[in-house]
Amino acid sequence: MNENLFSVLRAGFPDSDCCFIETGSGDIFTYGDMLRRSAQYANALIGLGVKPGDRVAVQVEKSIESLMLYLGAIRAGAAFLPLNTAYTPAELEYFLGDAEPVLVVCRPAMESGVGAVSGEAVLETLGDSGVGGTLGALTDLASDVFDDTLCSAGDLAAILYTSGTTGRAKGAMLSHGNLTSNAKALFETWAFTRGDRLLHALPIYHTHGLFTATNTVLAAGASMIFLPKFDAGEVTALLPRASVMMGVPTFYSRLLQCDALTKDALTHMRLFISGSAPLSPEVHSEFEKRTGHTILERYGMTETGMNTSNPYEGARRAGTVGFPLPGVEIRIADPETGSELEQGEVGSIEVRGPNVFSGYWRMPEKTCEEFREDGFFITGDLGMIDEQGYVNIVGRDKDLIISGGFNVYPAEIEAAIDAITGVAESAVIGAPHPDFGESVVAVVARKSGQSLAEEDIISPLGSILARYKQPKRVFFVDALPRNAMGKIQKKELREQYAGVFQPPRP
Ligand code: AMP
Repeated sequence: MNENLFSVLRAGFPDSDCCFIETGSGDIFTYGDMLRRSAQYANALIGLGVKPGDRVAVQVEKSIESLMLYLGAIRAGAAFLPLNTAYTPAELEYFLGDAEPVLVVCRPAMESGVGAVSGEAVLETLGDSGVGGTLGALTDLASDVFDDTLCSAGDLAAILYTSGTTGRAKGAMLSHGNLTSNAKALFETWAFTRGDRLLHALPIYHTHGLFTATNTVLAAGASMIFLPKFDAGEVTALLPRASVMMGVPTFYSRLLQCDALTKDALTHMRLFISGSAPLSPEVHSEFEKRTGHTILERYGMTETGMNTSNPYEGARRAGTVGFPLPGVEIRIADPETGSELEQGEVGSIEVRGPNVFSGYWRMPEKTCEEFREDGFFITGDLGMIDEQGYVNIVGRDKDLIISGGFNVYPAEIEAAIDAITGVAESAVIGAPHPDFGESVVAVVARKSGQSLAEEDIISPLGSILARYKQPKRVFFVDALPRNAMGKIQKKELREQYAGVFQPPRP
């Protein structure tokens, strides 16, 4: 049996005249179009010398064509390697040097910059709509018939670089089996059917938009409204044509700022899903009040795909990421020894299952460090499982603050601060402290028009948090620094506020 991801997914495809993608302007790209165009890309890649397992590095804008390139690479048995469009050629040099791709595909405007760092690789360009690049032109000439390359579940399908906790970015190696198992688990858990239309406004260089969204739609034989980027006004206008949306928490807080987001506009919607960063309970409840929809929060990462999800049927609890997906095991372990902790205790979240990657590209030692002997992967997240079995994330391992020997979990303090009237959002970090080792600092963004001062944050916390957890300093900012996936850049904040408790230099 061919265990190539595409081959497995195609078993669920509908008739070839069924819609696969609808653009924002209403153009339809059918399953038949997708089968033919991805076949052309597969043939074009092979014509360029790409063999099974060869890396195909791609730094292009999100478009139907770039999605077809992804599917073509999978069908050809190549290892697809998407790169954030924000990376400069200097940053690309590391990824390309590490991954040693056979083929690099970039935007036409980047050709000379990328060419200078792409080494031995063949360099091709792809315009936004497939027009205006060398690869699009080659692909037009290729045959639109292709037999998916024979792969086994363990064969490499993709490498996604992730910054991880420390050091240089690491290439997470994902197999056809990893991606297939996750697509099937999500399709079942979220009750996808062929009738579903997913509103897709996520980038496709990241696991969320590329695998979680696209592969789940393909597993169901469903369709999507495919947008180049997220624009709250445009998304609100298009939601009446969709049935499911997947987004990062920022999407939801921005949608709430649109007056046109009403219950009446969402009668066709059945599910809103959030992930990649914590969704604040305030946004969760405001969204429910405004729309009548309870956002379903799930948890995953580049190395594992999705691990847990709030239930489709049953209580979707704000501030939790729900239960392990079918086939996925989650345990909370002592970070030092790896032994399982009692229910309710906070520890290292560890995961095992068919979704978990095989290791970091050419980093066997790093891989070894992040797996336990019994095959559990150490996610680097800290969390606990509550009495009902819901997984709660309390922060990244590296975000843990140890103040005077006590562990302070930022998520708890952030939730308390976010509940104060006038606060839009907050980030809690540790800063070096001469007496306590580290002490708690809160960085707060106020809601517009609010004039909170440091004391307005510190004093209400006095009655709800133990003294060692209370922020010693509060700083106000217009907005917290975030990356494209909505993750707050705590490293940046830690650097910025590193000196606040240090005695002034003589
Ligand atoms: P990435 O590899 O970029 O997808 O980042 C994965 C990390 O994002 C996880 O290890 C978590 O720290 C964080 N993350 C993903 N989903 C959630 C969530 N629902 N709540 C809190 N953190 C999350």
